Amino acid sequence: MSTQYEMVIGLETHIELRTETKAFCSCAVTFGAEPNTHCCPVCTGMPGAIPVLNERAVEYAIKAGLLLHCRVSLWSRMDRKNYYYPDLPKAYQISQYDHPICTDGWLDIPSGEGMKRIRIERLHLEEDAGKLTHTEHGTLLDCNRCGVPLIEIVTKPDFRSADEVTAYLQELRERIRFAGLSDCKMNEGSLRCDVNLSLRPAGSDRLGERAELKNLNSFQFAARAIAFEAGRQAAVLDAGGTLFAETRGFDERTGETFSMRPKETQEDYRFFPEPDLPPIVLTEETVARWESELPEPPASRRARYREAFGLNRETAEALTVSREAADAFEEAAGLTRYPRQLATLLASDPARLSQGAIPVSAAHLAALADLAGEKTIGSGTARELLSLLWREDQDPREAVVRLGLGKLSDPAALRALAREVIAGNPRMAEEYRAGKTAVLQALIGQMMRRTQGRADPGLSREALLSLLSI
Ligand SMILES: [Zn+2]
Repeated sequence: MSTQYEMVIGLETHIELRTETKAFCSCAVTFGAEPNTHCCPVCTGMPGAIPVLNERAVEYAIKAGLLLHCRVSLWSRMDRKNYYYPDLPKAYQISQYDHPICTDGWLDIPSGEGMKRIRIERLHLEEDAGKLTHTEHGTLLDCNRCGVPLIEIVTKPDFRSADEVTAYLQELRERIRFAGLSDCKMNEGSLRCDVNLSLRPAGSDRLGERAELKNLNSFQFAARAIAFEAGRQAAVLDAGGTLFAETRGFDERTGETFSMRPKETQEDYRFFPEPDLPPIVLTEETVARWESELPEPPASRRARYREAFGLNRETAEALTVSREAADAFEEAAGLTRYPRQLATLLASDPARLSQGAIPVSAAHLAALADLAGEKTIGSGTARELLSLLWREDQDPREAVVRLGLGKLSDPAALRALAREVIAGNPRMAEEYRAGKTAVLQALIGQMMRRTQGRADPGLSREALLSLLSI
């Protein structure tokens, strides 16, 4: 794209809330279940079925709004958004129109020149539609997703590059996931984003005609769709053409966007207040209680861990991959004399840490860190023990004794072992005595190998030296 244009992007992000049941009925919220096994007259819109609002969905929506520094509306209401599409059996979606539950928030993201503030216009609560699967024999409809609670987060047109969009989505996903409000999996559709993109002459403050890009189901696809679409719009403008507001899809195979339909306007949806649901009325006390339940955000925890324990960035990031991991680390760190060893040990397998609940008790994690810190066991043994505890939680001190994993630090035993190693490698011993001291490392290596890494390296070295100097 030539530099005469400036890219202007606003985002609409949909996030499925991780409540146990749907927004307006008691059907379970699931992913990957047998199609059409979690639906009822309410979520499929049968005549006479009456919705009842799930309080947990309201709580999660407001917690998300608080994480994004939004103003919370103590009075809001649900509206009907009327449109027909095969994945929406009711032919309307229960959403929020002119009284959203949260407004006026912001999120700071890293950008080229330090931190940049992205303004959030609104966050509202709505329900998801069903899922269509297109096959060569026709289209399949799964209603399990109908009525799953969603939040839609709408930003101001504050982004100027694909990198800023990616940074925002990462920050948003981390905050929402850490607070346990959603798993935010783009590949499973629990986080979806639509990109509104237009170009304008550099320096202008008027907005151009925008295209809304839909169905971007990974960060990488979003970045590629933005790059393609900006280039396409620039080419149209350069050729003297005109752009019009439209909805465009993205083809993952070709990396191109394609026109789907002219952009609907808000009037097209004939919004009106949902007659089957009362307004949502909250007290300040309730909102304050929900706010107090929010965890400290991961970025601030990382800064605290690095400061307190002298951790590097990778280790701090691994420990804050989930709230469960960070909480487990903090609890165990308070019980061990070696919190830094504990951090390194836990962070040695980031994938395992990210899998939800930590199956090892804080006391056992702390005991393991103590064993490693006191050098009763080596770092390799500590990692093996951690894997063992992950499979079956137990006291690591007992496991060390039972499995004979403790470090060999008995001087007499090491001296006997050193004698064996020297006897088995007479040439190396000769070379050492002739001044080639580098072979000492190889001899220490032999001692480690014979003890499966349990020989204390410092004491092994001393034992070898005392024998070699005779
Ligand atoms: Zn239902």
